[in-house]
Order: sequence, then structure tokens, then C-alpha cells
Amino acid sequence: MNPRSRKTRLLGLLPSSLVVTRLPARGKVVHLTFDDGPDPEHTAPVLDLLARHGAKATFFLVGNRLDDHPGVVERIVREGHQLGNHSWTHPFMSDLPLAGQLEEIERTDRALARFDGIERHPFRPPCGVLPANLLLHYARHRRTIAYWSYDSHDYTKLPADRLAANLEQHPPRPGEVVLMHDDNAETSALLARMLPAWIAAGWQVQALPPLRA
Ligand SMILES: [Zn+2]
Repeated sequence: MNPRSRKTRLLGLLPSSLVVTRLPARGKVVHLTFDDGPDPEHTAPVLDLLARHGAKATFFLVGNRLDDHPGVVERIVREGHQLGNHSWTHPFMSDLPLAGQLEEIERTDRALARFDGIERHPFRPPCGVLPANLLLHYARHRRTIAYWSYDSHDYTKLPADRLAANLEQHPPRPGEVVLMHDDNAETSALLARMLPAWIAAGWQVQALPPLRA
């Protein structure tokens, strides 16, 4: 299980103004991202760990889950993390016409703005499915898709020890964008192991920098 897939390496060949995978390295920095929240059970332990280690992250939230767990979203914002857009219903974007894809994104932006006051958020396509028509739309409008470069594989349901051993075998490089999911218990167990190890090794753990959303 290589954290760096062939697909992310290929997407990394596109201009980073269009698709962000690994960011230009400025020292020993990794960017931590969590998809699929807010989760009533599993987001809080992730936030606890980030606070304990002074780390920041970007949370790509699913729009139609916001109103069920507003307190979780408020806590993410209050603790200085960044909100990202992970669509309204988490569809395969390739199943929708372009207008439907944009409605998924715009509706979620409007809902996120009620929490952080920001009009547009970096967008990460559900399951990484990035149709050509959406990519072209983003290119035309000079917006940036927030992909990732370093997949923790925390959605595979493997135990955290296995996942951690895999990441230790393939350590991050400067500027890496780490993909995780705050909707399962393995993620917080994995983070509890990796976060102190990365910080002890001199890594700064940050949210994504501002992108052209
Ligand atoms: Zn997702």
C-alpha cells in the first residue's frame, strides 16, 4: 500500500494552481486533511489530538451532515482549523451533469459560510472522482481543486497498527498533503501514533495554505 498512488502522481503533473497534490516544500511541513465529517463520535477525538499536539488541519465536510452536528463544526472553527468543501451528498461527481456538480459544491459553500463567514472553500471531490468537465470548469474560472498526495488508507478498515506500519515504511516528504477520514475509530488510533512521531521528528503539521477557491 503505497501512500502515493499512480493517480495522484499523474495529477501532480497538472499545474498546482488547478489541482493541488503535494505542495511546494517550504521546510519540514506536512498538511493534514480529514474528509467525510462532521461525525458525532469520531471528529472529537481527532480534534483532541490536534489540540494536544498544537497541530492544525483542514476538514473537508459533507454539506448535508452539517445541520445534524453543528456543534462539531463550530468546534472545528473555534479551534482554528480550516473548513473545506466535500460536496453536499458525497456522490460520484461523474454521475452528475456539470450543473448538478456545481450545485453540490455551491450549496455546501453556502452552508459552510454560516459557520466560518468565508464565501468559498477549497473543494475536494468525493472518492477523488474528478470528471473532465469539472476540471475544465475549474481551469476556466481559475479555481483550484484540493486533492492530496499521501493517502493514509484509513478507510480500508485495516487495524491502526497496520496502517501506521505502512506510513512508517513510506515516510512523508516536505509539502505532502495527507488524506485521512474523521468518520471511523481507526483514524484517531492512527493519528495518536503518527502525530507525536511526526512532531518528534521535526515536522510541522498544518492545514492547507489558502488556495484559489
Ligand atoms: Zn469522502
